[in-house]
Amino acid sequence: MSTPSVSFEFFPPKSLEGSFRLWDCVNVLAPLDPTFVSVTYGAGGTTRKLTHEAVGTIHRTSGLNVAAHLTCVDATKAETLEIADGYAQEGVREIVALRGDAPKGSDGFKPHAEGFASSVELIGALADTGKFNIRVGAYPEKHPEAADQAADIAFLKRKIDAGATSAITQFFFEADTFFRFRDACVKAGIDAPILPGILPIENWAGTQRFAKMCGTTIPQVVTDAFEHATRDGTTDLLATALATELCDDLLQGGVDHLHFYTLNRPELTRDVCHALGVTPKGRLQNVA
Ligand code: FAD
Repeated sequence: MSTPSVSFEFFPPKSLEGSFRLWDCVNVLAPLDPTFVSVTYGAGGTTRKLTHEAVGTIHRTSGLNVAAHLTCVDATKAETLEIADGYAQEGVREIVALRGDAPKGSDGFKPHAEGFASSVELIGALADTGKFNIRVGAYPEKHPEAADQAADIAFLKRKIDAGATSAITQFFFEADTFFRFRDACVKAGIDAPILPGILPIENWAGTQRFAKMCGTTIPQVVTDAFEHATRDGTTDLLATALATELCDDLLQGGVDHLHFYTLNRPELTRDVCHALGVTPKGRLQNVA
């Protein structure tokens, strides 16, 4: 079993304190030599400018390969492609292309009158520019809006056929969930890499809420363990152990890349990576 490659997701900061936290996160995780890092685009398109600034700053100052998340929400096609073009001009070559969700409180995704109606349309338009490596989202426990898993996987195939080169999954807690999904994708003719999304549990209450929203199953054994750990004040230790075990199972099953949802808190992700043998790489400029 060889050491996996890794990537990390960040979100754009909304305050000065948040900016420092993101900066710290990038500095702690950059030495692990990620294949790419990605920066989310706020739900409802709410962090358009902040995402752009965070992507640009990380790209310019860290030398990391940065992927900008981009959604179809609340923008015309021209506006969305203008954002993408701005990235290309700055040398950012990776986009995580998503449909996105409606702003909070509204009633499901509704395309902008002059906007992209689906992720497939957005992916096709980005692919036509020839400027980007395009990654997309995938759902091992199916997207909540999908009729069933077969329909969801058929839609993922359309996203790959439209020009995406890999998919990053929603978080999940059992390796078999991922393996079943990966096998079903292969059976459906999807040959693009599917990168498992790993969420080290930083915040137990928040994770429970988020899992409910996304349709991610939390096994009873995880719930029981967190109840104990919360009482004992050992949640970080438990979260590190659980995520490491999940990653280890995935690696044993042939996975060679892990994508971490860091929530801009680097410690758990760093500790899991270290436990898996992903350790800081010396940079040439540091030893010259
Ligand atoms: P799609 O894959 O386009 O749609 C989701 C599912 O709905 C499809 O799989 C399909 O089953 C069904 N569906 C949708 N359209 C059709 C159609 N026309 N015909 C038939 N079926 C259809 N959200 C943000 O706002 N910002 C982010 O930065 C962000 N980053 C994310 C990163 C990852 C790795 C993942 C997995 C999700 C992310 N999300 C983000 C959440 C995402 O926007 C939501 O899950 C959204 O509801 C779906 O976006 P998508 O591109 O995955 O959807």
